[in-house]
Amino acid sequence: MTSAAIRKAFLDFFKTKDHHIVPSAPIVVKNDPTLMFTNAGMNQFKDFFLGNKKAPYPRIADTQKCLRVSGKHNDLEEVGVDTYHHTMFEMLGNWSFGDYFKKEAIEWSWELLTKVLNIPIDRLYVTVFEGDTKEGLPVDEEAATEWKKWISTDRILLGNKKDNFWEMGDTGPCGPCTEIHVDSRSDEERKQVDGKTLVNADHPQVIEIWNNVFIQYNRLKDGTLQQLPAKHVDTGMGFERLVRVIQGKNSNYDTDVFSGTISRICNITHTEYKGTDTKADITVRVLSDHIRAISFTIADGQLPSNTGAGYVIRRILRRAVRYYYSYLDYKQPLLFQLVPVISEQFAEVFPELKQQEAFVTKVIKEEEEAFLRTLEKGLRRIEDIISASGNQITGKDAFELYDTYGFPLDLTRLIVAERNLSVDESAFNAEMQKQKERSRAATAIDTEDWIEVNEGNNSIFVGYDALETEAFVL
Ligand code: ATP
Ligand code: MG
Ligand code: MG
Ligand code: MG
Repeated sequence: MTSAAIRKAFLDFFKTKDHHIVPSAPIVVKNDPTLMFTNAGMNQFKDFFLGNKKAPYPRIADTQKCLRVSGKHNDLEEVGVDTYHHTMFEMLGNWSFGDYFKKEAIEWSWELLTKVLNIPIDRLYVTVFEGDTKEGLPVDEEAATEWKKWISTDRILLGNKKDNFWEMGDTGPCGPCTEIHVDSRSDEERKQVDGKTLVNADHPQVIEIWNNVFIQYNRLKDGTLQQLPAKHVDTGMGFERLVRVIQGKNSNYDTDVFSGTISRICNITHTEYKGTDTKADITVRVLSDHIRAISFTIADGQLPSNTGAGYVIRRILRRAVRYYYSYLDYKQPLLFQLVPVISEQFAEVFPELKQQEAFVTKVIKEEEEAFLRTLEKGLRRIEDIISASGNQITGKDAFELYDTYGFPLDLTRLIVAERNLSVDESAFNAEMQKQKERSRAATAIDTEDWIEVNEGNNSIFVGYDALETEAFVL
């Protein structure tokens, strides 16, 4: 099955269960001071759970573009090093707003995975919430009872609060969740653990694919939990992970979600991708991942910039540039050449990229050119700094790399960590603070990073200046 067919199978399945299919919300979050980027399918439905708005349909399903590079969920450092954490990924989800609950959610996830998508039963196991005595929370027996209809009890494991209890924030809707994991170890390896627990979260071939959250409590300001009058279901399944399982691959990067981008990278750089842990192979994975995050975020209206969400994108982009520059020995802009592959691949599901392909390509190319102008010198400078340092580089040095050569702190951290050094980050932050005060004194103007695109048919660009500043759309 192709990835497109798998996505369609998910949406079609929930359509047959009376779900209304809605489009993905933009990856960039507007008007929410608590969140920069969409990091889960439920974000766009937050007001329904909070009771601020009534859901237009009791059952909804979609595929949501998510980004996990900041805040509570930051997977950036895993990306390319492991085979299943991405910066940007698609989260498939189905929701019940005060409609069905545990019985249907569990039954349908089982039906979809084992009957529609034919994942072998003996590869699956699930976790349910073990309860919490301090909070007076019981084991989620309801979920366990539903699972027992479908799966043997030794495949139903108890999970702790960290993994199996979801909360939106310090207060508000929350509840237990049940997660579905796939064990793709070879039969050989699985035999060795027979009789012992099936869970081996550290094994790269045992991965979580789907989380079903049952929102049944409201946490009050004093910390106590109240039963909600209406109970909700909120699920999220990693699309790229699902595709990997169904296509029988050992890595998300071996699926057709990434193969087109990877072959283009290999073509351009005359590299052969072998799927190993060499720096070159990690680089190919990192690039094929990062270009998606960068392209879709720009297409959703966030330009790279020096502050806020724009700086997150700039950091990802510069991280990618340094990877190809150092490990694929490619010294010219590369990422912008990958945009057409992705825009083509996602033309049906996320047409916003195709619609703005020329613009997105231009923005990325200019960003790459700008960073490549200082990268070589910065890399030489960092070598000097490393040779002159003990096991830590000073905040002043890290700040010089940031200020003069455009090295984001996390890039400096990554480069020095490869040589077993760290950065004095609090001293770096102090330097940063000093500079902010200097520039605040110098200028009172703060530029706005947000641009709006694709809101209805009347959206047109009225112009954009340099990448460092802003673009407006009416
Ligand atoms: P993990 O434990 O693997 O980091 P998670 O528990 O943080 O995943 P959830 O918040 O439960 O993830 O999100 C729901 C689903 O989204 C996960 O079951 C997984 O399939 C997928 N997912 C989460 N983070 C990523 C990521 N960085 N890249 C790809 N898929 C992801
Ligand atoms: Mg995680
Ligand atoms: Mg998890
Ligand atoms: Mg989870």
